[in-house]
Amino acid sequence: MPVKGVVFRLKGEFPVEVTSLLEDFRLAVNSAVRAGLQARVTSRNALTRLSYSDFRKEHPKMYAQHLVSAFEVAGSVLKNHRRRVRRGNAGRIPYIRRLFMKAENQAYKLDRVNGVVDLPIRAGCHVMLKLVLSDYHRGYLSDPSFTLGSLTLFPNRAIIAFRKNAPKPYAPEAALSLDTNERSLDGVLVRGDSAVVLKAEFPEIAMIQRRHHDKRKKLQKKKAHDRRTSRRLCKREGNRERHRIEHRLHQVANAVLSFAENQKSAVVLEELKGFKPRRNKELNRRLSLWPRRKLHQIIEYKAQWRGIPVVKVDPRYSSRTCPICGRIQDSRMGAEFECECGWHLDRHINASLNLLRTAISKGMAGGLRFNPGAFQHDVMMILYEPAMAARSEPNGTSDAGGTA
Ligand SMILES: [Zn+2]
Repeated sequence: MPVKGVVFRLKGEFPVEVTSLLEDFRLAVNSAVRAGLQARVTSRNALTRLSYSDFRKEHPKMYAQHLVSAFEVAGSVLKNHRRRVRRGNAGRIPYIRRLFMKAENQAYKLDRVNGVVDLPIRAGCHVMLKLVLSDYHRGYLSDPSFTLGSLTLFPNRAIIAFRKNAPKPYAPEAALSLDTNERSLDGVLVRGDSAVVLKAEFPEIAMIQRRHHDKRKKLQKKKAHDRRTSRRLCKREGNRERHRIEHRLHQVANAVLSFAENQKSAVVLEELKGFKPRRNKELNRRLSLWPRRKLHQIIEYKAQWRGIPVVKVDPRYSSRTCPICGRIQDSRMGAEFECECGWHLDRHINASLNLLRTAISKGMAGGLRFNPGAFQHDVMMILYEPAMAARSEPNGTSDAGGTA
């Protein structure tokens, strides 16, 4: 069931009772994290068994649901920490500084007409929090098909998770197969006997990454004498970078999915493999992989929300296989894939054809047939490019077009 977090600002003064609840919550999370580290457990249940009674003694009146939810937050903090330890880049023992709390949907009430959150603090004490509402927010509140998920509360805002029963994906009439590369998605749309080559370009993402990488390096050098400041500034740089990149990835995903939806097409993507960096050099490489992962994540999430079928396939040999005769080439090609049987095609487009072939042979793309012979178009469609608004007509010719 897809979930969407909607951010609400809060009206008026933040009640004192809630501030102290947030402080208690933070205390509970941090002490559960410490207890969990000592006892080497990360699950919510184990943490609850471990710390519940102790914490209960110190805070006898705190609403029990909030306490359980604090252990849940502690559990995910511990899991992230453990993952970093496994990768060999663990920092210090995790400690939550910022004030916030999470309440599951049973632990608060929401007046969806007036936008008021009713939050229990302890037995006999409730606080009403008024939300600032815009049309965007009212859209979520007034639509009964959205059910309420958790509430995450900060001193200046609240994030409410809305869940929706995902619409059943439509039966695809076409397939949009995309090979994910550092600067673009490249692929084909196949429908019946015709195929179109297409591309969604995002060269600026690699540029943003490089720029921020250099900036962080410079910061580290300049603030080498002050590690705390250096770390703080680097983190800020990292957040800016992430926001910039994610903003663009959302646009790319929207363009791809709107096109797929119009065509009643399934989207075929490759399964991106896990990658474990062993040295620093490899960490740099990993940096360029996360936008692609993130892009897939965004596409899958949005597609689920909109009822667009997405198929993920194993990309093994997809860049070295000939989709016509099935021969596997020994080494990777240059820009152009060439086969002894005479087939030749742009390397990335060829890879996307192989993804499509895998999806169809496994019956994952409905009743579509794989017919590369239809693949004669030489006009490339641009689904997305940085200057999208300025130019929307097809972008000249490409060297796509086989000999089949
Ligand atoms: Zn061949």
